[in-house]
Amino acid sequence: MATSTSRRSRLSWKNWAGNQECAPARIDAPSSEEEIAQIVRDAAAAGQRVKVVGSGHSFTAIALTDGRLVQLDNYQRVLKTDAVKGQVTVQAGIKLHRLNEELDRRGLAMPNLGDIDRQSISGAISTATHGTARDLGGIARDVVGLRIIAGDGSIIDCSPEENADVFHAARVGLGALGVISTVTLKAVPAFNLHAREVPMDVEECLANMDDYIAANDHFEFYWVPGTRWAIAKFNNRTAADQPKRGAWHQFRDDMLFNNVAFWVVCRVGRVRPSIIPRVAKIMPSSGATEYVDSSYKVFCTPRMVRFYEMEYEIPFEAATEAFNRVRAYIKRSGLILSFPIEVRFTIGDDIPLSTTYGRRSCYIACHVYEHTQYQQYFEAVEDIMDDYGGRPHWGKLHFQTAETLAPRYPEWDEFQAARKKLDPEGRFSNPYLDRVLGPIA
Ligand SMILES: Cc1cc2nc3c(=O)[nH]c(=O)nc-3n(C[C@H](O)[C@H](O)[C@H](O)COP(=O)(O)OP(=O)(O)OC[C@H]3O[C@@H](n4cnc5c(N)ncnc54)[C@H](O)[C@@H]3O)c2cc1C
Repeated sequence: MATSTSRRSRLSWKNWAGNQECAPARIDAPSSEEEIAQIVRDAAAAGQRVKVVGSGHSFTAIALTDGRLVQLDNYQRVLKTDAVKGQVTVQAGIKLHRLNEELDRRGLAMPNLGDIDRQSISGAISTATHGTARDLGGIARDVVGLRIIAGDGSIIDCSPEENADVFHAARVGLGALGVISTVTLKAVPAFNLHAREVPMDVEECLANMDDYIAANDHFEFYWVPGTRWAIAKFNNRTAADQPKRGAWHQFRDDMLFNNVAFWVVCRVGRVRPSIIPRVAKIMPSSGATEYVDSSYKVFCTPRMVRFYEMEYEIPFEAATEAFNRVRAYIKRSGLILSFPIEVRFTIGDDIPLSTTYGRRSCYIACHVYEHTQYQQYFEAVEDIMDDYGGRPHWGKLHFQTAETLAPRYPEWDEFQAARKKLDPEGRFSNPYLDRVLGPIA
């Protein structure tokens, strides 16, 4: 096991966005379940806290610790696939891009994914990471079994049939219940997606939103602030034998347009904000895109431009009104924003701390370029989302506390009971969890 301790040098760890940093007492990179369990037992004996990090892609302080930081980069194997049952069992640290490639080699795929594939599977499910879909939910909804190491170092197998109370809560556990060691997930036969990206008037997009959702497997849209432009994205399963996107085509779309050109706009816009509205009006009108590719290559694109993000889940029925209020606020405030607002949809689930618990959902996400002030913008949008009982993404910036969050989650007490059972001493807590979950009681 690779280990670093603070006695030799002052250790530090930063998240992807660079807005969260901590100085752990020790950093370990175990390569077996037994090593992870031993770290938890040693920490318990020493009265230290423990925090596992995935890929550090959360914008919140959820993964920070001054205790023992556990990185699972040496713990990324696919353990088992069962094409008949449609299941895959993996070590919890596996990154989604590696999982996607390994599944593809076996003729399988994840049913749905978010925008990127850099996260670990355990980090993704722990914060209720999601994409967009008419008939599907977030990634945690596809979990069918977990092995989890509790605060005393004991290892618990859980599924709907075994330790069902633990399974129920631990699929979206915020890292507060224990260290997830292995994850068993649903996998479907590999499939292609036919992708279409169409610039359109945002009013037209809103007027047709329900029809677009109903008629497409995966629909989402981006609105470009300061303009009338939306970019609607329609992804549909296809069995048609269409030519796949070539390497140049993929590089042009994913790297040149979405990253390099966008990065230039953000950099120049920081010095001369007045250019942003002018470029924003031109960029979306530059044309529609259409291609076919393997599902995971269509769902996920590289994100090289660093940013800070807040995303709220609200009931599906509130989507248009809430979105229009965000637009009206941005216009009123005079804010000049270089990043679009992203709007996505999923069906609900029954996972106590899942943002989509018990309802069909709309997600509204706001971003700002790195090192940009976001407080005023995000607080104003959060005020709007509060009116709809909005639930913030656990891995994205927000200003809520346990007091304001508890009434938004009908099974809050069930989650807290599982937390008390698995981690009575708060071994896996940190200041963020203290804020959003409150004390263990
Ligand atoms: C560029 C970018 C794009 C994104 N796109 C999307 C998107 O499309 N949809 C969406 O919903 N979110 C999105 N996110 C948010 C991201 O998916 C979540 O924040 C996710 O949690 C990050 O995964 P991670 O592996 O980096 O976890 P980390 O941020 O490292 O950790 C998150 C939490 O999981 C816990 N954890 C990790 N591993 C374990 C384990 N083995 N056992 C117990 N707890 C564990 C950590 O302790 C921490 O509490 C995006 C983020 C970025 C930076």
